[in-house]
Amino acid sequence: MGTRKCKAPPPTLGRAGTKKELPEHFRDYRHVWVFMELERGQVHPVSFELLGEGRRLADQLGVQLAGVVLGPPGDSTMHAVAEAFAYDADLVYLVEKSLLTDYRNEPFTKALTDLVLTYKPEILLLGATTLGRDLAGSVATTLLTGLTADCTGLDVDADGSLAATRPTFGGSLLCTIYTLNCRPQMATVRPRVMRMPERSTKPIGRVIRHDLAMCEQEIVTKVVGFLSDGQSENANLAYADVVVAGGLGLGAAENLELLKNLARTIGGDYGCSRPLVQKGWMPVDRQIGQTGKTIRPKLYIAAGISGAVQHRVGVEGADLIVAINTDPNAPIFDFANIGVVADAVSFLPALTDVFIRRLAPRNRMRLVN
Ligand SMILES: Cc1cc2nc3c(=O)[nH]c(=O)nc-3n(C[C@H](O)[C@H](O)[C@H](O)COP(=O)(O)OP(=O)(O)OC[C@H]3O[C@@H](n4cnc5c(N)ncnc54)[C@H](O)[C@@H]3O)c2cc1C
Repeated sequence: MGTRKCKAPPPTLGRAGTKKELPEHFRDYRHVWVFMELERGQVHPVSFELLGEGRRLADQLGVQLAGVVLGPPGDSTMHAVAEAFAYDADLVYLVEKSLLTDYRNEPFTKALTDLVLTYKPEILLLGATTLGRDLAGSVATTLLTGLTADCTGLDVDADGSLAATRPTFGGSLLCTIYTLNCRPQMATVRPRVMRMPERSTKPIGRVIRHDLAMCEQEIVTKVVGFLSDGQSENANLAYADVVVAGGLGLGAAENLELLKNLARTIGGDYGCSRPLVQKGWMPVDRQIGQTGKTIRPKLYIAAGISGAVQHRVGVEGADLIVAINTDPNAPIFDFANIGVVADAVSFLPALTDVFIRRLAPRNRMRLVN
């Protein structure tokens, strides 16, 4: 079953398409904001993807694009400010306070809601990361506004409303959601769903500083340290150029070594379909698809994966999809660029051997000569 788009006309449009007036006070809300996610000194790349998308929406609306940076005083926060301009923000709202060193819900929610209440953006975008999901939910609840989570498409409608599209009914339908009665219109987008825009050398522009009237005693959570769960191995699948993934067709947990060997040989990362996570064969941060990671590699090799729509939505952005499946009618062959009808358990080691031979230094010399 494919994914169908179900787009009803927005209720702000009359039956003949004539516009109903938006509430007068909505005019106070202007500009598009992108929350710059900064965690332990690093800007999350989803912030740049959202600046690219925010730029497009701001240009359509004829308004400005702003980055929002919340962090401790210091180099990493100022680096995030500079990066927002490098990815085409017109201005940056900045709250610098040591309370904002590590992410905690209360100070970040207060800083962001204070900024929104003061400067009134019409659209506020955040990454659908662990941090972004937590923050977006509490900010929307505090502001009593609407939030569309995990969007796969954003657009501006005829009346200037944000049309936020996301999968629904288990991924079999796409629905477009409008925030009609409140402002700002908030949306989260998962990493890699939007394209990474070009980085420019644009210098730092206008920075609007805002205070955070809060002290440590008012915050109930304290960060005492960071622990690894010992399982997740810091998978950064979303940004890998080459990904090899396996599904139930691999038959047994020990066959996952075949995937890992191929991924190692070609300098890629590895992932899986959801049933493998449910069986406990792989950690959840290796799951690809609607409820896992979205990936945009140059090469995606799927072994023993049927290609259900919930998996497909996570891999459609790949440049080249190679599918290995015993069933010539498997849905994955509908969207793969190269299809191999074969038993993945014997095909994967054979493919790995070919790569090992091709990538051997002697052969590389021959190619260069
Ligand atoms: C709300 C919701 C969210 C979901 N989110 C996700 C998600 O994020 N990611 C995800 O992946 N799924 C997700 N799913 C599950 C999804 O619907 C499918 O059930 C799942 O993707 C199927 O996984 P699979 O292809 O590994 O297994 P199967 O559908 O069982 O397919 C196995 C495939 O392997 C082939 N095969 C068998 N033996 C071999 C062999 N020896 N060599 C090669 N091929 C072989 C078979 O022909 C078959 O095509 C979600 C489902 C729901 C309802």
